[in-house]
Amino acid sequence: MPRMKIFSTIPETRAACGEARASRKRLGLVPTMGALHEGHLSLVRAAKARCDSVVVSIFVNPTQFGPTEDLSKYPRQLDRDCRLLEKEGVEILFAPPVEEIYPKSNSNTQITWIVVEGLSEKLDGRSRPGHFRGVTTIVSKLFHILEPDAAFFGQKDAAQLAVIRRMVQDLNFPVEIVACPIVREPDGLAMSSRNAYLNREERVRALVLQRSLEKVRRQFLAGERSSAKLIAAAKEVFSSEPEVRLDYFEVVDPDTLDPVAQISQKTLVAVAAYVGATRLIDNLVLDGVSAQRQMDSPR
Ligand code: AMP
Repeated sequence: MPRMKIFSTIPETRAACGEARASRKRLGLVPTMGALHEGHLSLVRAAKARCDSVVVSIFVNPTQFGPTEDLSKYPRQLDRDCRLLEKEGVEILFAPPVEEIYPKSNSNTQITWIVVEGLSEKLDGRSRPGHFRGVTTIVSKLFHILEPDAAFFGQKDAAQLAVIRRMVQDLNFPVEIVACPIVREPDGLAMSSRNAYLNREERVRALVLQRSLEKVRRQFLAGERSSAKLIAAAKEVFSSEPEVRLDYFEVVDPDTLDPVAQISQKTLVAVAAYVGATRLIDNLVLDGVSAQRQMDSPR
């Protein structure tokens, strides 16, 4: 297997991606903030399966962190990440320093932003003002620098996925957006680089997110379609974990992120909660259409 090429500058990476596209055709991008786990690696594997060449980016993007958030303590483990990516057969790693992406010559201030208005202030965007503006700006920078044919994102960050899909559609980026399923720990906790912040007790408490979603799934499968009732059931689960502070529990359209009152379509059930100081998110997608079809069909 050829060794992975590791670059920290834009021109080198741009040239390598151009070469990969010319000789091997389809280039897949997996954008990450590093501290890689099996969730990230599942995106890499999906990219390997669907593309001829894969570029991964590792960049802890300061513009998507709020002033009181965990930017400085976000886990950074580049050597370990490199070994994992090399094992997966990744061709190119782009791991730029902050100044390469946001040069100091701009007075360290990005003045051009990409904002998906109407989506960016929903769900996580409501709790984290400016977060999605940072995400869409860095993702569009990566799309311009690396020019991938396809980019792979986790369903774990469902609101992020909606915002990016809308950006790609509205700005005519020639990039296919591929969503990959949530990868979980054996006990059901969604994998996240932030799980490393949890102490032993918090790690146990964190399971309340998944428990609340499972309760909603069960009630949905039993025929409940009222979002208000499903949300009430989920909140009851949270009341059994008073140490965990619920940020939001919402039942929304997966594209517009607007709340839906009754589940009759594909619907996103999304949750965010603070376990100690750590904010965790999780979600599930309910398919109101095929559930209705199954109920209608004769047994
Ligand atoms: P991050 O490094 O947290 O910015 O995540 C980089 C990408 O990995 C995003 O597209 C995430 O949605 C995805 N990702 C993170 N955790 C998981 C997971 N548990 N399962 C699937 N994808 C994930």
